[in-house]
Amino acid sequence: TFKTIGVMGAMQEEITPLLEIFSQHRAEKVGNNTFYIISFKNTTLILAYSKIGKVHAATTASIMILRYGVEALIFSGVAGGLATDLEINDLILATKLCQADVDLSAFGHPLGFIPESSVFVESDKTLNALARGVARSLNIELKEGIVATCDQFVNNPEVKQTWNQIFGAAVVEMEGASMACICRDFNIPFCVLRSVSDKANGEAPADFDLFLHESAKISAHFVYTMLERL
Ligand code: SAH
Repeated sequence: TFKTIGVMGAMQEEITPLLEIFSQHRAEKVGNNTFYIISFKNTTLILAYSKIGKVHAATTASIMILRYGVEALIFSGVAGGLATDLEINDLILATKLCQADVDLSAFGHPLGFIPESSVFVESDKTLNALARGVARSLNIELKEGIVATCDQFVNNPEVKQTWNQIFGAAVVEMEGASMACICRDFNIPFCVLRSVSDKANGEAPADFDLFLHESAKISAHFVYTMLERL
C-alpha cells in the first residue's frame, strides 16, 4: 500500500472527471501547474494535468515525485490508435513505452535510443496486474500494448504505420514515455492508461475533438476504480 499516489493527465479534460469525483480538494500552484491534494481513504492523492507534450509531462512527474513524494504514479488520458484492430474508446494499458521521435541514428543508435537510457521503459507489473483485475471484475475489455510517445499530433497514415512497425506501438500519444523515464530514474512504480480518441489518420483532428471528453472519462473512471483498490 502507498501513502501518497500521483495521478496525472496531459489536458484539463483528462483530469476533470476525477476532480468531479474528488470534489473535496486543496489546490496548490507549483510553477505554472496546479496540483490538487486529496484525502482518499488512508492515502493522499496528488492530481494534476501537465499540459501537452514530453517536456511538460516530465516536469509534472518530477514535481509529483520530488515535491509531493508520490510512491506510485498513474497516467490517465487519451491516445491515437496505431494498431489496426483498435477502435475509438478502446482502453489500453501500456506494457512499455518509447520516445518515438528520438533519432540518434547518425551515431549508429537504434531509433528511440538515448545513451544511458533505453528504447523502452516498462510499466510496473503490480500496477498492471491491478488494472487487469479491475478490468476483469468490471467486465471491461482492457487491451495491452506498446505506447509510442512523441512531440507531435499524428494524423498521417505513413507515420502511423512506420511507428507501428518500428516500435510495435499500438497507440501514439505525447506524454507517456516521458513520465515513464522520470519514474524509472527515481524508481517509482507507474502505469499508463489511455483510451483511444482517434486513429492517428486524416480524420484524427476531427475525431479527437469529437471523442476527447468521452474517451478521457473512460480512462479516468477506470483509474478511479484502481485507486479504490490500491
Ligand atoms: N486539441 C489540442 C491538441 C491536442 S494534442 C489543441 O487544440 O491544441 C493531443 C493530446 O491527446 C496529447 O496530449 C496526446 O497525448 C493525446 N493524443 C491523442 N491522439 C493523438 C495522436 N493522434 N497523436 C498524438 N497524440 C495524441
